[in-house]
Amino acid sequence: MTVRTAAAELTELPAYLYDLAALRAHAAEVRAALPGRVELYYAAKANPEAPILAALHGLVDGYEVSSGGELAHVHATVPDAPLAFGGPGKSPEEIAAALRLPAVRRWHVESERELRALAATADRPVDILLRANLPVGDGALHGAALAMGGRPTPFGMDPDRIEDCLALLASPGFERLRLRGVHAHLASGLTAAEQLRVAERIVGWSADLAALHRLPLHEVNVGGGMAVDYGDPDARFDWTAFGEGLDRLLARHPGLTTLRIEPGRALTAHCGWYATEVLDVKHSHGEDFAVVRGGTHHLRTPATRGHSQPFTVLPVEDWPHPWPRPAAADTRVTVSGQLCTPKDVLATRAPVAELRAGDRLLFSTAGAYAWNISHHEFLMHPRPAFHYLDGDRR
Ligand SMILES: *Cc1c(COP(=O)(O)O)cnc(C)c1O
Repeated sequence: MTVRTAAAELTELPAYLYDLAALRAHAAEVRAALPGRVELYYAAKANPEAPILAALHGLVDGYEVSSGGELAHVHATVPDAPLAFGGPGKSPEEIAAALRLPAVRRWHVESERELRALAATADRPVDILLRANLPVGDGALHGAALAMGGRPTPFGMDPDRIEDCLALLASPGFERLRLRGVHAHLASGLTAAEQLRVAERIVGWSADLAALHRLPLHEVNVGGGMAVDYGDPDARFDWTAFGEGLDRLLARHPGLTTLRIEPGRALTAHCGWYATEVLDVKHSHGEDFAVVRGGTHHLRTPATRGHSQPFTVLPVEDWPHPWPRPAAADTRVTVSGQLCTPKDVLATRAPVAELRAGDRLLFSTAGAYAWNISHHEFLMHPRPAFHYLDGDRR
């Protein structure tokens, strides 16, 4: 069953629809585009729903988790999968919980405090990467939707702080921490060409650091942040060009045994849809508005990123009421939700041929940072339903 058919047949709205078969096919394509020395981890925070994590199992090399909650949930869902534990502000309880799980294969250490806490708590060898906040020159981050590095941020460590950690790691009391390499996640929303420039910077910097300190840094994790183009739902990040570029990069660094990436958004965004219905169509001060059931408390993505969420209209011919059907034709419509705030907007002045109360809207590109980043409790509306399509299985 296609997502469109499923959305038209739903009896309860709003609802999230996920196409797990499409997700697996996409992840397999991504994997096939990457060189063998590249490990693919999925950043669980993009969408941690259990069926999504399970669908990716076997297609990704592991999962990146950024909290004790994600750690417990991902491990319970895919118990045999390797995990990388990142995130700023790891609490003592989270550090202790992660140390109890052998599935945690890598730690992304974000500060000297964390390094000290980990060394003091570890009762077994722990493989770590130091998370670096590197300046990325040459306008490499131009166009990034979010920048976690290359500027003042609470993420990772500046290069001089990394040097301090190297000195600590060589001192007594830190024997259990095995430094494997460097982690950096500097920006999100980057095209393949931009990602490659950033990856080259991170790998080059790591190689220089290793040479300077005569350290065997065999691993580099260059993070996630592969762009999703919400303005063109059919567009995809150019994994082929990215994979070819990484292949060239690896050829220049034969000592690098593992280059890891940890995309979130670009893996799952395209496999999720949010279906709802138009409750009302209104004309206000010269503009048309469609008010839908649900809103940004279910799908916050357009509000946080400031974009129009792409959608298609699923016409519904039935209008069971004796009063006139509110409608707009050949116009631009702002699609808002049920919340009492002007920020509850899913799409702004989107062109529509016809839109009537009772019609359904199917928002695409809603499989990442959508439901799980939304403020569900605001105004106490009901939660959406969730449907996982898997080929012919429903
Ligand atoms: C959020 C995050 C990712 C994934 O970012 P996307 O933009 O979803 O690809 C990867 N690594 C770290 C450390 C993150 O915080």
